[in-house]
Amino acid sequence: MLIESLLIIMQQQGHYTCTARITEIDELRTWFYVKCPKCGKRAYPEKDRFVCLDDDIEEEEPIFMYCLNAKITDNTDSTEVVFYNEALNDIVKGSCRDMVINLGNRNPKVFPDNNFNKGGTKATAHRCEK
Ligand SMILES: [Zn+2]
Repeated sequence: MLIESLLIIMQQQGHYTCTARITEIDELRTWFYVKCPKCGKRAYPEKDRFVCLDDDIEEEEPIFMYCLNAKITDNTDSTEVVFYNEALNDIVKGSCRDMVINLGNRNPKVFPDNNFNKGGTKATAHRCEK
């Protein structure tokens, strides 16, 4: 599907599937966040672990979620999208937890794009909410 027709669908549905090239990654935004395994709210880094404001999760594994802001382009146009967890799992062929913990990419502002095929990725993308 072409981006120019996507832009119309986006206004109607807020989501779509397309094949486009990822041409730019928004490096001002973080590419993952961490959720509390008890309440599902955001957890925050503290020293070498994560904490929830409401729960004690010291003994539990926090949940790592992708959320990458990027620009995609095809031969008709380009647009800004957000790749959520499911979509990015597919694209990088690995979970967010693997990427952060096992591969050691702990900086949420630096996306490890060596793991990332920028050439023509089929992507299920969601409209960027500003
Ligand atoms: Zn919590």
